Amino acid sequence: MRFEDLVYDRPDFDGLVGEISSLLDGLSRSKDREEFFSLHKKIEDSFLKIDELYNIVSIRNSINTKDEFYDGELKLFYEHMPRFDELKHRLGTIRLESKFRSDFEEKYGKTITMRDKLQEDTFDPSIMEDRVSESKLVNEYYKLTGGAEIEFRGEIKNISGLLAITQDRDRDTRREAFEALNGWFAANMESLDRIYDDLVKIRTKIANKLGFETYTPVAYKLMGRLDWDSSDAKKYREQILEHIVPLSQKIYADQAQRIGIENMKYFDLPLSFLSGNPKPVGDEDLLVAKALEMYKELSEETGEFFEAMIDKGMMDLTTKDGKAPGGYMTSLPLTQMPFIFSNFNGTSGDVDVLTHEAGHAFQGYLTRDMYPNENNDLTMEIAETHSMSMEFFTHPWMEKFFGEDSEKYYYDHIASAIKFIPYGASIDEFQEYVYANPSASPKERRAKYREIEKKYLPHLDYDGNEYLENGGRWQRQLHLYTDPFYYIDYTIAQINAFQYFVMDMENHEKAWDSYIKLCKISAKLPTKKALKEVGLESPFDDGTIEKILPKLTDYLESLDKDKIK
Ligand code: ZN
Repeated sequence: MRFEDLVYDRPDFDGLVGEISSLLDGLSRSKDREEFFSLHKKIEDSFLKIDELYNIVSIRNSINTKDEFYDGELKLFYEHMPRFDELKHRLGTIRLESKFRSDFEEKYGKTITMRDKLQEDTFDPSIMEDRVSESKLVNEYYKLTGGAEIEFRGEIKNISGLLAITQDRDRDTRREAFEALNGWFAANMESLDRIYDDLVKIRTKIANKLGFETYTPVAYKLMGRLDWDSSDAKKYREQILEHIVPLSQKIYADQAQRIGIENMKYFDLPLSFLSGNPKPVGDEDLLVAKALEMYKELSEETGEFFEAMIDKGMMDLTTKDGKAPGGYMTSLPLTQMPFIFSNFNGTSGDVDVLTHEAGHAFQGYLTRDMYPNENNDLTMEIAETHSMSMEFFTHPWMEKFFGEDSEKYYYDHIASAIKFIPYGASIDEFQEYVYANPSASPKERRAKYREIEKKYLPHLDYDGNEYLENGGRWQRQLHLYTDPFYYIDYTIAQINAFQYFVMDMENHEKAWDSYIKLCKISAKLPTKKALKEVGLESPFDDGTIEKILPKLTDYLESLDKDKIK
């Protein structure tokens, strides 16, 4: 059955809530092992039904936001979802307290109940009102930044429109675009400060009510981090500082030479090549056909996966009127297929969808019939390892997609990944300060961020821009407002993916087997254990980063400089 043929009937929300509640009653009373497991399966099936229908509605809504029917259905789901979240929470509590807990753990592993425990640690009825206030503030940030109307050369732009112009080849254009952008942030600084300050105070209050001194451990638990904490993050950042920062400075110096600007200012940084960024060679039809060839050549599993994605219509790729912005991958648990949504627009981002989002989707495909489904509740650093590694496993085929630009693609892919890591670390270290010092003033926060920024990003020359010189840059980073401590996950995944990149160059079979194993482990093991199980080194361990870097530099050196301009 193809995606467009899937039938959607509105679920009977009240009926399902009643049904799951009574199954949960039965589960909590259950004295018989067989009965416990059979009820557990029934409960999970009911949840999957809701998840499936919700995903169908939300995919169809993002494909056409103007379709009133699915818009209405989505609103209905938003209204009812908290009831199902509450039931899921209850399921966790029952599992923890059940006399069949150890049977359950023996059968399905320990991470589900470990996460049940995290959930218990981070929830208390007394914080519900605070969470509502928190999400109101987060929405305020979205609304403020999403509604930005910024004048640029006589035209009104939004933030992402302006960011696109900051890559322009003309230096004045880049500078003016950045000045307009930062001008808007400076003008809204007080609101942005107030929203953040309120968020930090509410989150600290939540932590205190839950019995924690600061919000940091609460955030870690909420992200499902089972075997690493802020002390690991600290050691990890030290490695970044020692090894990646110097390498990134060398990459910036090469960039300065390449684009012919001796003292690059912050507004020069988005311009990697004077000849423009690498461009894919065709539209959706051509790129998908090439991706199919690629995935068939890469492995049997990927060939079967991508063929199924096409045959079942599980991708909606090209941008069109009425589509929601951005891109994502999600899963249909009953249809047992992943779905990829994106907005192809003729940039290299189109190919990223076919490697990165397809990496997420491939992992979803490999584990499509996993039971319990909760063993697929990935933490972000592992989920992004699946997708970012696929970007590297598909490297040998990039000539198909970029033709003459492929050398530029190869260079930029590695170089921008390296450049990103210190920035990610700066955001993490800043948050550690913020939540350890919840009463710091906005001015103190800004001063601290500027200090951290100078450590990780010493090349930054803000050209006297007051807002940036005073430490305002972090306010553009959505995650600080929406998901505290989340950002570092991208950098950890990048280090894992780099390990696969290096391993793949040295021994493809070994690397691919390990990758498939990691995909299939999914969330059945905590992060450090999972990495160890598949023969990857932990990014938190001393030496891991240091070992990879020379291989990355060798790779960059091996590329044809004449084609990278
Ligand atoms: Zn991703």
